[in-house]
This record gives sequence, C-alpha cells and structure tokens, in this order.
Amino acid sequence: MKVVLQHVTKQFPSLNKKSPEPVTAVRDFDYEIPDGKLIGLLGPSGCGKSTTLNMICGLLKPSSGKIFFGEDDVTDLPPENRGVGMVFQNYALYPHLTVRQNILFPLQNLKGKDKLSKEEMNAKAEEAARLVQIDALLDRKPAEMSGGQQQRVAIARALVKRPRVLLLDEPLSNLDARLRLQTREEIRRIQRETQITTIFVTHDQEEAMSISDQIVVMQAGEVHQIGRPQDVYDDPRNLFVAKFLGTPPINVFNGEVRDGELLIGGSAVLAVPGVKAQKVTVGVRPEGFVLEKDGPLCCSLQGVEVMGRDISVVSTHPDSLNVTIRSIISAENMAEVAAPDVRFALKPFKVFLFDAETGERIRFPLS
Ligand code: ADP
Ligand code: MG
Repeated sequence: MKVVLQHVTKQFPSLNKKSPEPVTAVRDFDYEIPDGKLIGLLGPSGCGKSTTLNMICGLLKPSSGKIFFGEDDVTDLPPENRGVGMVFQNYALYPHLTVRQNILFPLQNLKGKDKLSKEEMNAKAEEAARLVQIDALLDRKPAEMSGGQQQRVAIARALVKRPRVLLLDEPLSNLDARLRLQTREEIRRIQRETQITTIFVTHDQEEAMSISDQIVVMQAGEVHQIGRPQDVYDDPRNLFVAKFLGTPPINVFNGEVRDGELLIGGSAVLAVPGVKAQKVTVGVRPEGFVLEKDGPLCCSLQGVEVMGRDISVVSTHPDSLNVTIRSIISAENMAEVAAPDVRFALKPFKVFLFDAETGERIRFPLS
C-alpha cells in the first residue's frame, strides 16, 4: 500500500504566552511513500517525526494537506479505520496480561463481520508470534521477558491485524546497544517477509541508514532530502544533511574559492572548475583524505587510532570547524604518519562545497 503525503502541514497553538505564534511542527511534507518499502524518517529530536507519524496513523489531523493510502483519502478517517499498526518507543504492553493475551487484544475488539472466532484469533496471534520469534513465550507475562522480547511482542501486536501500513516510532531506543542491532535486523526481516509498507522513525542516522530502502531527513519541521541512504550520503543537498549522516562525522572547514581552486588556510587543495570566487564551507568525508608526503592540506597530527583494517588519523587545522579532523586511512599506510604534521590530498568526490551563508550545496564537476 503506497502512502501519499500531499503538502501536509501541522501547526500547534503556542503554549508560550509571550510568543503567541503557533508552532509549525511539520511544514509542507509532500512525498509518495512507495508500496512495500521500509522508509526511515530521520532527524534530531523535535524535528517533527512523531507528529508526521501520528498524522499518518490518524491520532493527529493535519492543519492543511491530505493523506492517501493507495487511492483512498484517509485524511478524515479515525485511526481504527485506517488499518495501521503502530509501535511506540515504550512498548506499552499490558503488564497483567500474558504475551498471548497482549497480542490477541486488538482482535478482541473487532465487531460485526470482522468478528473472529476464538480459534481464528489464536491462530492469528500464533502466526504473529512466530513471525517475531516469540512463539515459545506466549504464556509469559511482560515482566518475565527482556526488553528486546517485549518489543517483539509490541511488534507482533501491531502486525496481528495485518495492517496496511506499519508505523514504528523510535522502537529501539529503550534497548541496549547489542539488542538494538539485533532487533533492527529483525525488523528488516519481518518487513521483507510481510511486504507491509513500513515507516520507521529514529534520530539515529546509522540505524536509519542500515535498514531503510529510503530515508527522509528532517529538521525543524522541514524535509531536507529524500533518497536511498547511500545516495543521500554521497550527494547531500545541504550542510545539515552532510553533517547529520556518517560516523565519524564529516569534517567541515572554512574555505574560499579563487580562480577555480578551493583554498583551505590559503593553500590550494582541490581544483573546482566553474565555481565562482566566494567564501565557502567545505565538507570532507573521513574517507576522502589521502596521505601524501607533499599533499596540499597540512594538519597538525594529534594521534592515530588503530581500528584493524583501517586507521583513524586525528589532526587539527586552524580553519577546521570540528575540534578535531578525523580521516580514515588504510592501515597499510600507517608508516607514513609521523608527527608533528600530516599532509593530505583530497578525493574530489568526497569533498562537498556549501554556500557559506545558506549551507546550500555548490556543485562542481566530479562532486
Ligand atoms: P520528534 O518526534 O521529531 O522529536 P515531534 O513531532 O514530537 O518531534 O515534535 C515536533 C515539534 O512540535 C516540537 O517542537 C514539539 O515541541 C512540537 N509539538 C509536538 N506536539 C505538540 C503539541 N501537542 N502541542 C504543541 N507543540 C507540540
Ligand atoms: Mg518523537
């Protein structure tokens, strides 16, 4: 089921008496979510992710714009008639009910022609439990399970009615690091098996990048960029997106373009033909540095962290906007690193130029 957001905006009345301006939580969200895909809705806290999800499930009504499931306009449809499954950050299971009763719960309220027999309900609950691999734990109470298992129960409960759309709001943030990793792979597997259009909300870029078919990067209610994770990483539209994606994060410098050359700290570090003379903000991905004895970018070496296959060279530069510059270099080149200075050449397709004022991308051939 494709989900279409058509110029969706949500404003909340101001809670602050001193500034009566309404808060725009989501502004002009316009996007057709393709059928059967897993979409990562990504952005820092407060950027409008939950508001967007709550409008899709029907808990909130847009201030303007429309929402379609397939060809059906669901903008005014109450949540229970939309056929959505929702999972929240805090699993919100009923503590006094067993796992089986928790999963059965959404089926017990079905009325009229949708009403199911006890056997049918049990069969559906068991199928959902199998899908999330908790079918051996159906008689336990939530308190007798780990956080990861409880979250699986919550997912099974969201899946039991075979929703048209599955909505997950930061479903992994209460889990420890290892469980988070494992559970996100589970979610990917379940999504592939069921082919249910799924929207996964997170503030964790690595999480979104690793499981999504497409990511939507948001900030302060605005959609900045939509695309396949690798494409957005390789081709960010602006400085915010470039900085938000990637670990270690992108290295940012103050720079200047003069006569088709990019200067950092007065040294010409890269040819950028066709770019007019101006001050720029420069982003260099950690994998964009090449150790070179006479390389044009001269940094002060702070240390080297060995990470197995690669090494991370930590350095500083007066025009760096990050406290330290992190470059990822193949460990074979380690012998070339010697204090006090380290010199680099830059890989052009790993260097992005941005307007020093607006942060919008400035393109040059090869970038
Ligand atoms: P996220 O899920 O990305 O952290 P939210 O969608 O929860 O962000 O919130 C987006 C913005 O809308 C925030 O500035 C938040 O304070 C505001 N907001 C959310 N819900 C309400 C509400 N019910 N009333 C007023 N402001 C709200
Ligand atoms: Mg939220």
